[in-house]
Amino acid sequence: MEALQPYLEAALKKEVDHAIVIETSKVLTEPWVRMRCQFGCFMYGKSLCCPPRTPTPDEMRKILDSYRCGILLHRHIRKGYKYVDEFNEIIVDLERTIFLDNYYKAWAIGSGPCTRCKECNVAGACLHADKARPSMESCGIDVFRTAKENGLPITVVKDHSQSRDVYGLILVE
Ligand code: SF4
Repeated sequence: MEALQPYLEAALKKEVDHAIVIETSKVLTEPWVRMRCQFGCFMYGKSLCCPPRTPTPDEMRKILDSYRCGILLHRHIRKGYKYVDEFNEIIVDLERTIFLDNYYKAWAIGSGPCTRCKECNVAGACLHADKARPSMESCGIDVFRTAKENGLPITVVKDHSQSRDVYGLILVE
């Protein structure tokens, strides 16, 4: 969509490697994604932005289907989790810009667990609700297949020292 081009350019200026407009039908959800969160991730149940508090794959499918398109963003990170945080910050800031431009449904999801607080306030409300967003994977999105089927790079990393490809999505309208 031509109207979203300025947002793609704004993202690329902030060291995002790819930003493409994507139909939400091309964002893929799968039941196994939730299973991998529940049985395989130490963050399960420990954050307001992680399962089981995030939308299930079925709920996320309905959310995705209530939008026509969004912006898929990719960044290749050589080292350091702080760059994932920086990437998530770029996404949520861009969500706000898009929202203020009258795309009233704009909503962003990023990559990895929320790290804004030393310990998540799981017993109460989010301490940074204006900025904290769940990750694509925590909402049941198959990030690998979504990236690959849209021509973008992603591979399994073997340990935390390896470079990685991270993704975010801003649902627009
Ligand atoms: S901002 Fe803090 S309270 Fe909110 S989800 Fe993230 S870690 Fe939890």
